[in-house]
Amino acid sequence: MPVIEAIETPIAIDGHSVRISTSVGIATGRGEGADAARLFQNADVALYRAKAAGRNTYCFYEAEMEPKIAGMACLEHDMQGVLKSGGLSLDYQPVILLATGNIVGFEVLMRWEHPIRGKVPPSEFIPIAEQSGMIVCLGEWALVEACREAASWPEHLRIAVNVSAVQFRQPGLEESVRRALASSGLPADRLELEITESVLVQDAQAVIASLRRLRAIGVRIALDDFGTGYSSLSYLRQFPFNKIKIDRAFVHDIDDPNTAAIVRAVVGLGERVGAAIAAEGVETEEQLNRVRQEGCTEVQGYLVSPPCMRWTRRR
Ligand code: C2E
Ligand code: CA
Ligand code: CA
Repeated sequence: MPVIEAIETPIAIDGHSVRISTSVGIATGRGEGADAARLFQNADVALYRAKAAGRNTYCFYEAEMEPKIAGMACLEHDMQGVLKSGGLSLDYQPVILLATGNIVGFEVLMRWEHPIRGKVPPSEFIPIAEQSGMIVCLGEWALVEACREAASWPEHLRIAVNVSAVQFRQPGLEESVRRALASSGLPADRLELEITESVLVQDAQAVIASLRRLRAIGVRIALDDFGTGYSSLSYLRQFPFNKIKIDRAFVHDIDDPNTAAIVRAVVGLGERVGAAIAAEGVETEEQLNRVRQEGCTEVQGYLVSPPCMRWTRRR
């Protein structure tokens, strides 16, 4: 679309090339009621869809979009005040080192208790927070809270915090990490940031440079959900991840010889690049034994414990 292309043209400011992205929602007066208020409303619905499609694109309004988008817009609206109203909390899921059977850390998972709808799963509210940009504030809040909490734990325990691709596209992430560490007093090597490959898809070189700076201050970096995205080996070559987390879909199907072979190959890769290999979503003793056989070094999953507000061992 010429409008998007025109706006996207890089602008030079103080020697930096700045690029503006645009999302456009389009509603026409045909068939869907032509009064101005309705047109604006329909254009908003189409805009929401354009943003959901990855931004920097356009979308025409269609009546079928309405129920789903309206629900998302409603949730987005309700999320606006969530940091002030205190509806957010963090759960912690233990990570076990297979060699010793000991807990070596916890992964932090965000929870949202909606005043009317009750618990909203992260799979619903995280994408909405990402589309609206709110994930930047929510992610920073999680980082600060998690570091503060971990600073009170025994020194050998680490904390792993999920970081969204949207947070990486904003300039302040490194500063937020430094601030969270400084204000909590948590040593940097006890903080692990979990990123997915989606972080690396756009402007991989800039992201890798940022990851290198974070590693230089001691922060550990884990590659999350490995196997579900692009699984590009070139990322592993370009950046020394401290950990590779094998997605739970592989653990679930580990009885399948092809799946087991992939897990084995990832373990081999991890060994080569000096990364720990964690198996996610371990639910049964059989899965535990299989991932151990294949060479995974750490496990997480309901078998040990689901994510909890306060951790108590179930077995
Ligand atoms: P994830 O980072 O892959 O987190 C692991 C998910 O697997 C969590 O889902 C956890 O509750 C679930 N899980 C753990 N053990 C098992 C198991 O044995 N079986 C099964 N079936 N599931 C297990 P949850 O808490 O619903 O979070 C979903 C996703 O939402 C996370 O996936 C992560 O991508 C995102 N998320 C959660 N908290 C945050 C956050 O603070 N920031 C960001 N950016 N994303 C977050
Ligand atoms: Ca994770
Ligand atoms: Ca994961």
